[in-house]
Amino acid sequence: MKIILVAAVMLSHSFGESIKSKYEETSLKIISKSLTDSTAYNRLGYMCDTFGPRLSGSKNLENAIKWILKEMNSDGFENVRGEKVPVPTWIRGKESATLLSPFKKELSMLGLGGSISTPRGGLKAEVIVVNNWDELESRSNEVPGKIVLFNAPFTSYGETVAYRYSGASAAAKHGAVASLIRSIGPWSMNTPHTGVMAYDDDVQKIPHAALTMEDAMMLSRIHDRGDKIIVKLDMNARMVADRWSHNVLGEIKGSIYPDEVVVVGGHIDSWDVGQGAQDDGGGCIASWEAVRLIQELGLKPKRTIRCVLWTNEENGGQGNKGYRDMHMDEMDKHVLAIESDGGVFSPKGFGFSGNDSARKIVEEIHALMKPIGANTISEGGRAADVAPLNDEGVPVMSLKVDGSKYFWYHHTNADTFDKVDFNEFNRCVAAIAIMAYVVADLDEPLPR
Ligand SMILES: [Zn+2]
Repeated sequence: MKIILVAAVMLSHSFGESIKSKYEETSLKIISKSLTDSTAYNRLGYMCDTFGPRLSGSKNLENAIKWILKEMNSDGFENVRGEKVPVPTWIRGKESATLLSPFKKELSMLGLGGSISTPRGGLKAEVIVVNNWDELESRSNEVPGKIVLFNAPFTSYGETVAYRYSGASAAAKHGAVASLIRSIGPWSMNTPHTGVMAYDDDVQKIPHAALTMEDAMMLSRIHDRGDKIIVKLDMNARMVADRWSHNVLGEIKGSIYPDEVVVVGGHIDSWDVGQGAQDDGGGCIASWEAVRLIQELGLKPKRTIRCVLWTNEENGGQGNKGYRDMHMDEMDKHVLAIESDGGVFSPKGFGFSGNDSARKIVEEIHALMKPIGANTISEGGRAADVAPLNDEGVPVMSLKVDGSKYFWYHHTNADTFDKVDFNEFNRCVAAIAIMAYVVADLDEPLPR
């Protein structure tokens, strides 16, 4: 440990002037510019209100992409292009869930991405409520012919999302005719949450949908009293053949090492509900704006900064795999890849995945972000769209924000532009811009 620290200190000395003294003035300029400029905020509002939600395979998504390419060109970015990627295409269709017994009520619901339809005209069945996987197993003899409702309370996204992703096949294995989940989130205002799901190959496919937290808890209470629950589920969802989408790229060229690249970006696709404002329109437009501000301030980083807006993060990940494959020959020239996909709330800093000497440098850069409260470096730079680059040895980062409200809106009809705060959003822009600029301008590439 001691040896590593000494090496890191020596390495940081080899950069000469400290990062703080060298970049403090520039980073303050970036901060004051981002906090007062409304270009990005207006662009996010325009994109949300003009194109709507941006599901993979939809016209909305491709129209938004076309608009971004046009705007990036007018910003004076170089090598602006859409790189073609085939994306899986799921179409929701009309859907409803109706409680028939003990009383009649339309249940707010969202089918889960990838689900099959119900038989034509819907299906009607008794509901069994389970709170977790163990309960499903211990009561499996009651499952045949019924709809299983997983009423699993939200713990963390990573843990609870398993019911959304794998619940259908787990229920079908025991003879369920459909499965429902309690929406994945800690809080609800009658907001069902969609998201991707998948089927096991060797199990009968059954329809899979999300109810609201409120309705799932109500059905659980009814069930606990021993009363019979009957629900009619009607879904017309279907998968169609893959369609073409595009990863969006635009860059400012490095002044000394133009073939070395710092990537910043988010995912341009969203679910087909709300406006995909926090997930992840905000991350996309903040990354784009970071590059635009660096250019507008007349900064000339030594390395190229490339904005990449990946397509199809939500239901396939074809965008991030496509980018990696298309740029495999320049993987060793990727100095760093930064992703923003946790919403554009108050920024805290960046999660970082890379080696110890790189981490020391990244920590010094964090100190520059103290004025915007984004000076905390943490673990966990890997996020969906940069993970494939990290697998090839590229150091990666993800923007960390105050996540306390993210899962209120995530994948719901409430993920709309009004949930984005002007100042919080602009502080995200500043954080990304400072990190990208300083790393792109270091005398030596970030060590691997
Ligand atoms: Zn996302």
